[in-house]
Amino acid sequence: MRRQRGYAHSLKELLSGGEYLDTVCANLYQRVMNNPVCAACEHFRYCNGGCMALGTLYSPEVPDVFGSDLTKCVFYRNGWYRKAVSAMSGWRNETEIRP
Ligand code: SF4
Repeated sequence: MRRQRGYAHSLKELLSGGEYLDTVCANLYQRVMNNPVCAACEHFRYCNGGCMALGTLYSPEVPDVFGSDLTKCVFYRNGWYRKAVSAMSGWRNETEIRP
């Protein structure tokens, strides 16, 4: 297959290793170790730091793939847990958030 002009890497090269693959395959431990805000957040067990693309987009100064996904911060911090628990009132809560 011919490589199109303007692309530095083929799709095969991108999916065979390197920085891109390291980034998209980052695990939760790496996310916690690289984001102290998410590491301390009571919602992390549900949110897992949110979307890495949005975390990068909303990084305050330099793009950071481990940045917090602010859309998830708004979602979780505006009563999501209370609403979910209320909506599931007949169910046993196995993952209770404790202050
Ligand atoms: S709600 Fe925000 S701070 Fe908490 S884990 Fe999700 S992205 Fe991180």
